[in-house]
Order: sequence, then structure tokens, then C-alpha cells
Amino acid sequence: MLTQTPKGTKDILPSESYKWQFIEKKIHQVCRIFGYKEIRTPVFEHTELFQRGVGDTTDIVQKEMYTFLDKGDRSITLRPEGTAGVVRSYIEHGMSSLPQPIKLYYNISAYRYEKMQKGRYREFHQFGVEAFGAKGPDIDVEIISVLGFLFKSLGIKNVGLNINSIGCPVCRKAYNEKITEFLRPHLDKMCPTCNERFGKNPLRIIDCKEEKCKKITVDAPSMLDNICEECGTHFEGLKAGLDNIGIAYNIDKNIVRGLDYYSKTVFEFVSENVGAQGTICGGGRYDGLVESCGGPSTPGIGFGLGMERLLMEIESQGILIPDEDSVEIYISSIGEAAGKYASKLVNSLRENGISAGKDLMDRSVKAQMKYADKLGAKYTVVLGDDEINNNKVVLKNMKNGEKDEISLDSLCQEIINRR
Ligand code: ATP
Ligand code: MG
Repeated sequence: MLTQTPKGTKDILPSESYKWQFIEKKIHQVCRIFGYKEIRTPVFEHTELFQRGVGDTTDIVQKEMYTFLDKGDRSITLRPEGTAGVVRSYIEHGMSSLPQPIKLYYNISAYRYEKMQKGRYREFHQFGVEAFGAKGPDIDVEIISVLGFLFKSLGIKNVGLNINSIGCPVCRKAYNEKITEFLRPHLDKMCPTCNERFGKNPLRIIDCKEEKCKKITVDAPSMLDNICEECGTHFEGLKAGLDNIGIAYNIDKNIVRGLDYYSKTVFEFVSENVGAQGTICGGGRYDGLVESCGGPSTPGIGFGLGMERLLMEIESQGILIPDEDSVEIYISSIGEAAGKYASKLVNSLRENGISAGKDLMDRSVKAQMKYADKLGAKYTVVLGDDEINNNKVVLKNMKNGEKDEISLDSLCQEIINRR
């Protein structure tokens, strides 16, 4: 126990962390281009926030939250997703009085007590975007485009975009009656969760993962076929906006999304490579959420992208992420005087932004070179008294074995020139 991570969690080791850094850098770049600003909210919030903000009839709230009483007897929950905390922050800091839309993004860890499977963990990571204050479909198109840019900048191909509309409280009411009538005769064949949701939020039954329930809901009336005129216009606007900038999509009437608060637009990016957990990213519009959390009536839209699933996708597409962190030059040294000189040289290389290393273990030159090779150093030099006295070193390219004699003084410039 002591030397194992808790079930559903894992360490991100140096052999992986450079990939995370690479993707995070791309995320920051793409968000900057689109004018989204980073927000950082606490890892834990009051439990009520998620009950309200994620929704009482969701799997997350019903089955998956890490909830505990703190020493002050407050009910606290580790965030299972990012939207609720950002909505709380939007309200708490009066962001509705700033120029709208407010466009935010985050890279967070999230926590759900789930059955461990490939691509499904108890601690996982999400890149998310939330935009508040704009109610037309243009912003829906924009946030979908953020994902398009991100995938492109990572070289990811063939992730499919599925879109749907799940209407608004007005059309949902009429639809709920329809689907209730449809489902009522089948209830005894459906799972307990569906039975419970039947009275509270029948649309969510479409999202049930149990085979016996899916068999029944395939023939259920779809929300999309029953949306009101306003929602229909919004959906047409979304499709036209995506067409306008050349983003391909499929319409999938079965997407209802896992969270209770969605309205109108819902969407997912799905991969065929990642298997059962193929949804890399899910998002949608949540026009009632800010108000239901105690803020002013404010439209909003966002998405959450699973970083672990994104990485799986990158790997399965054979995309190589460069390890930009490997040591550029390793200075091996022979003897005490050269060792001291090497310390100064490494220091000055580092001051010039070059990743440089030297012996820290009193190793032989042979062992130093072996270590440099293991580090993946791009270049090495061996420094002895002669090299220092004659101001000459042999710069070895570790990749192709080429050697060049250069003056010691020019080493720094030489490394920069060769980049
Ligand atoms: P799923 O249907 O796979 O359970 P969800 O609807 O619960 O997904 P969201 O709440 O929309 O997922 O979260 C957005 C994204 O976060 C998902 O598309 C997925 O990539 C990722 N994600 C969700 N839960 C997990 C998890 N337990 N482990 C890893 N990634 C996850
Ligand atoms: Mg889930």
C-alpha cells in the first residue's frame, strides 16, 4: 500500500511529463490566439456547488464524487469537473459587470470515483474552456474551432465532431411528456437509475450505458426532432457557422451529455482509435447554469477535454512529441583543475540559455561519457588541462558521431549556431 498510488491514480514521470508540457504549451498558444484567459480555481469546493452545478440526476453527483467532511464539519468535494468552479468564480467576482463575453480556460486535475478502465481514471486531467454572456451560435462555433486549432497544431487527424441540440426549458417540457409516454410501458425492463431519472429528468435516460436500456431508447423520440423555433434557429446558425469556416460535423441525435445543465448545443469529439472510451472531449451550452447557481441570468457555453484520452489518441496516431528538454551539451572533465573549469563553463553556458551538464559524481571520463549518452546529450566535449591551455576542444555530435575541433571560447556561440 505504502509504495503504490491509490487505485485510479498514476504518477506522470519525466518520461511522460515532457509530452504534457508540450500539449499544455500548445493549449496556451491556441487560447491566446482566440483570446481566452486562464483561470485557476480551487481543487475542492462546497459539495452543494456540484450538486447544483453538475446536477442531482447525473452519474457524477449520484455515484462518482469524492465527498468528505472537513475538520470544521463542512461538506467538501474534490472537483469532478471544471465548469461549476468557474461558474462560482464568475458569480463571486461579479464578472457579469465586465465587458462580455468573458472567455476563460483551464488545465486542471479532476476526481471521480469510477470503475478503472483504459482511458478512465479516478484522478484525471481536463483542458476546458468556458465563455459567458454570448447567446448566439457564433460563440458555439468559436469554441469548437478552438479544438479544431488544437488538434491541428498537434497533428491529430480524424477525430469526428458530433453535434446535437437538446432544446431549452420551453421545448424540453413538451418533449418530456412525449418521452415519458414512450418510456412508461418499458420501465420494468429498465435499470434502477433510469427508473429514478424517469420522474426527474427523462431526457437523461437516453444517456444510459446499460445495454438493456439502450435497446429500448434507440426508438425513443429524439429531442432534436422536437425543439422549438428559437432552438431550431440556433441549431441552424451553428451548422451554418461551422460550414462557413469549413469544420466538418455529424449530427448525432443521441448525444445528451452527462451533465444536467446543458441546453441547445451539445457536442462531442470522438475517436475511433481509443476504443470504448472514445469521447475525447464533450461540451455544450448551459444558458440556465449561472442563474441556477445564484448569479444573474447569463448564457454560457464550454467544453472539457480529457488529457489522458488526448495523449492516447496522439500515441495511437503515431505522432511523436519532441523531447525539448534533453541536455544540449555535456562537459566531461579530467582532473581537478579541469573539473573546476568545467563548473565555470557550464555556468556560463546556462546563463546563455543552453541546457548544460557536467560530472557531479566523481566519475571516470569513460563513465561520464556513458552517462552523457544515457541523458541523451546532443553534444559532448572532454576537457583536460591541454584543452584549457590551448583553447581548443573537440565538439562531438552524439547523434552522428561527427567531431569538430573548435576554440573553447566559441563553444557557447557554436551551440547556439547549430540549433
Ligand atoms: P464518459 O461518457 O466517458 O464517462 P463524461 O460525459 O462523464 O464521459 P465529461 O464530464 O463530459 O465526461 O468530461 C469531459 C471529458 O473528460 C471526457 O470526454 C473525457 O475525455 C474526460 N473524462 C471524463 N471522465 C474521465 C475519467 N474518469 N478518466 C479520464 N478521462 C475522463
Ligand atoms: Mg462519465
